[in-house]
Amino acid sequence: MSAMLLNKDKWPEFIGKLTAKNLWAPQAEGDAIRFGPVKEGDLPALDYNNTRVPPKQVLFPQTETMYRFQLGNVEMETPELTGEQVVLGLRPCDARAMDIVEKLFKWDVDDPYYLKRRELVTLVGVACSEPGLNCFCTTVGGGPASTEGLDLLMVDFGENYLLEAVTDKGKTLLEEVKELLTDAPADSAAQKEKAVAEAEGKIKRTIDSEGVPAGLPGLWEDPLWQRVSASCLGCGTCTYLCPTCHCFDIQDEVEGFDGRRLRMWDSCMFGEYTMHTSGHNPRPSRKERTRNRISHKYSYYVDKFDVIACVGCGRCINLCPVNIDIVEILRQVKEAL
Ligand code: SF4
Ligand code: SF4
Repeated sequence: MSAMLLNKDKWPEFIGKLTAKNLWAPQAEGDAIRFGPVKEGDLPALDYNNTRVPPKQVLFPQTETMYRFQLGNVEMETPELTGEQVVLGLRPCDARAMDIVEKLFKWDVDDPYYLKRRELVTLVGVACSEPGLNCFCTTVGGGPASTEGLDLLMVDFGENYLLEAVTDKGKTLLEEVKELLTDAPADSAAQKEKAVAEAEGKIKRTIDSEGVPAGLPGLWEDPLWQRVSASCLGCGTCTYLCPTCHCFDIQDEVEGFDGRRLRMWDSCMFGEYTMHTSGHNPRPSRKERTRNRISHKYSYYVDKFDVIACVGCGRCINLCPVNIDIVEILRQVKEAL
């Protein structure tokens, strides 16, 4: 059982079964669509372009307790991460981002928090049919129906969803809901190909990254960094909302003799991020921080992990308050090479 059809009439029943498995999915909240826990009777909204906030917090929460401690008798208590979870409705770019970030979290040391959550979660993605104005996934290694990072892919076939298992976890999930499914018709591969080609045809923005990873370090002193960062406010939106950004800070919170060590998202676009206790800051202005953001994604990460740390979701373009555009920055990088 690796490709099946789910008639949309069965959608509430399908969601009902998954809700019992600690389901997270996109849901309407005012005029926004947000990922969150699905309660009994809720129906996730899948007719969205992409969420403003990526579902990266499923594996990498914005704030998490790493452990609690007691001063005096030095007792430490690490939270147990248990319980399966299903995340449904994420876009292929966001699932790919989870795979890309995982490379970092199992690089020099295994990060037990990220890796345990990854082990416990089943990721059910939905292929894109209406990519956004600033999507450019196809030129950074992804696509509207990419299965990288996913356990199961859903493709909208009008009255039905095609459900394709990608991993054993995906196959197990299909088994668990099999009474709601029917066999995919013989022409489903051709139907899927047509739907994917249509979606790809709607992606209008592109990045030409040929030669960029090797060339970026040579542009260290190039005036382009001043130009492209001149209007930056240093707000950090581009990094907080980026599915591949993974910088964090660690802080202790102590009250009396009890305390906890916390890990929380940080941003390389903040001045304090690289501030030394001496007061020296090796990235003193937004010029250096912008250069680092682009170089990290398009050069350092490629050097270390052989993949660009940008999945082309377009969020940093859509949501930057001063319209700084990574596609345009990369165009200027190419021009300068
Ligand atoms: S979102 Fe825009 S203004 Fe804010 S830090 Fe990023 S590039 Fe600068
Ligand atoms: S850098 Fe921008 S386009 Fe690339 S993954 Fe991050 S938010 Fe998306």
